[in-house]
Amino acid sequence: MIYLDYAASTPDLTPYSSLHQWAMKDFGNPSSSHAQGRAVREVIDKARRDIADYLICRPHQLIFTSGATEANNMAIMGWLLNNTYDNLCHILCSPTAHHSMIEPVARSPKFGGTKVTYLPVTTEGLINEDLLENLLASWQTDNIPVLACFEWVNNETGVVQDARSLVQLFHKYGIKVLIDAVQVLPTMRPDIYDVDADYMTFSAHKIYGPKGVGLLYCRDCATLSPLMVGGSQEGGLRAGTENVVGILGFAHAIDYLRTHLANDAMVLNELHKRLQKIAIAYGLTINGAVGHNHSPAILNLNCGVEGSALAQMLENEGFLVSTGAACSGEAEVSHVLMAMGLREAASNSIRVSLSARITTEEHIEEFGKALAKCIKELKV
Ligand code: PMP
Repeated sequence: MIYLDYAASTPDLTPYSSLHQWAMKDFGNPSSSHAQGRAVREVIDKARRDIADYLICRPHQLIFTSGATEANNMAIMGWLLNNTYDNLCHILCSPTAHHSMIEPVARSPKFGGTKVTYLPVTTEGLINEDLLENLLASWQTDNIPVLACFEWVNNETGVVQDARSLVQLFHKYGIKVLIDAVQVLPTMRPDIYDVDADYMTFSAHKIYGPKGVGLLYCRDCATLSPLMVGGSQEGGLRAGTENVVGILGFAHAIDYLRTHLANDAMVLNELHKRLQKIAIAYGLTINGAVGHNHSPAILNLNCGVEGSALAQMLENEGFLVSTGAACSGEAEVSHVLMAMGLREAASNSIRVSLSARITTEEHIEEFGKALAKCIKELKV
């Protein structure tokens, strides 16, 4: 089988055997004040410092979570809980965002009648900054708290938003910004200081780290209320004993990026170009903006035949791709492509996602041949 679904998850390359030995020895609760507890606490603190150094923020601004789903929920719900006691709130959300953003936003009207507006996106999947600026300028917000949420790199199409420019625009209108940066890490270093968002979310299992561990960056943790209460772990924002091995695995995955990201990005660029050439040669349509607004790790193709049938047929031929986000289930029509106004593409597309460390030119060539064969068979 040739796996081409790395946007869903990557292999876990955490060095478990050495971690296991360590965890057998230093198994104390990191919140215990005795020597065993302090030893584990120091290891977590070091992981947090190392990751903060890579992401360019301060260690206390990083909250470890069970993944990006929790981090997105924590930012959205935590912000609402912190603001809706005294205020009516307004949330602006990208309609192409991951379900872990879309779903908490969809539930937010239950918080004191919070208003929700979806951001305008082009058929290329980019947030339309001109329309957005007109919209923001026309609003009388009466100083109500507003939070804008969007994904930096889309997990289905690979479309890359101009995060910095969007943050500047939102900040001009006093709007706080949450960015889902999960799919950024495999190809770019997300400089938090430069982008200047208020909240940002990450996940370890897209960069060869463990599943079930993620991060919320929070410029000012006092702007959120905790969803999980109990102990005072994670600065009081997330109670519960830390997933120590998961956190160390995340730090290990980030450490790898420190030295290999530039090469990974170069390899992905070449593989992506090759895949695009094949797709174009077969007359397939690439969904979403291309060029510098596209992640080289993901390609979404309208193949003109039903996406789920094609994915199944490709699997029979030995290739694993998806029709969209793994979490939304294969039967669902892509909400991302629908939001881009690509109705027909929404059910006729597949997502191919690549690994700089595993995918080869040969895999792409073989995949291209199988793709052509399957499409031909489905068309008769
Ligand atoms: N956001 C994006 C853009 C994603 O691709 C994913 C994973 N599919 C998530 C959030 C959720 O991450 P996790 O699996 O860590 O909950």
